[in-house]
Amino acid sequence: MHNLTLGLLLTIAWLVQARPPTTAEADDDMRLTPEQVQLLDMNGGPRIAHSWSGYYWKGSTLVYSFGEGLSSWDNALIEKAMAAISSQTCVRFRKTRNAKDLQVVIQRKEAGCWSYVGFLGRQQQLLNLGERCMSSRTIQHELLHSLGLFHTHCDPKRDRYVKIYTENLKPGFEHNFRLIAASEATDLKLGYDYESIMHYGEYAFSKNGLPTIVPLQKDVKIGQAEGLSANDVRKLNRMYCQGSKRQQ
Ligand SMILES: [Zn+2]
Repeated sequence: MHNLTLGLLLTIAWLVQARPPTTAEADDDMRLTPEQVQLLDMNGGPRIAHSWSGYYWKGSTLVYSFGEGLSSWDNALIEKAMAAISSQTCVRFRKTRNAKDLQVVIQRKEAGCWSYVGFLGRQQQLLNLGERCMSSRTIQHELLHSLGLFHTHCDPKRDRYVKIYTENLKPGFEHNFRLIAASEATDLKLGYDYESIMHYGEYAFSKNGLPTIVPLQKDVKIGQAEGLSANDVRKLNRMYCQGSKRQQ
């Protein structure tokens, strides 16, 4: 077993009180394979043995191509978001035109913003960016899913850091708040990160305008990251810069 790198796993957040939910937060933006669902024990089913580092991109390089529906302007925004990640970490992005490469196909086939989690070893691993997904933070959030990070509020120690008000949740969205089994998660010794770009905001999936996630610690804000937090950077580097001086 393996500790599924919560780093690999922990992800992030958006909303701000004054802002409407981003599309990433309004939908199920984190897609899991059946194998991952089993591994995470999210459904209470049997877990399977697997090494989570198998979901890291080889050579610290995410291979991608642009699929249908995106304009050259969109492509430029996406590559700018990639550059923002690469400039702070050991992660690299390589565009390919070879359909046989194992790659993330970034597309706009529908309205939502969503991604699979980690390297799946597929020739077409999809990442969808609808028209409302083109802020740098939303693009970076989805790319971090593809790199292997999960949502921060799924951290098994979450309840020591935030209170979830399930009574304010839209029916049918409760599964977004399931915890990852502690045996399968690791935060790479970085602790709970309120500031992560992978942490949802206070009003995520609210049915009534009341908060759904409230920090237990005063004076912290969640869901407002415009880019990677300091610990997002450390997490990616612990995952992807083995032996590099950049690893912190
Ligand atoms: Zn997400």
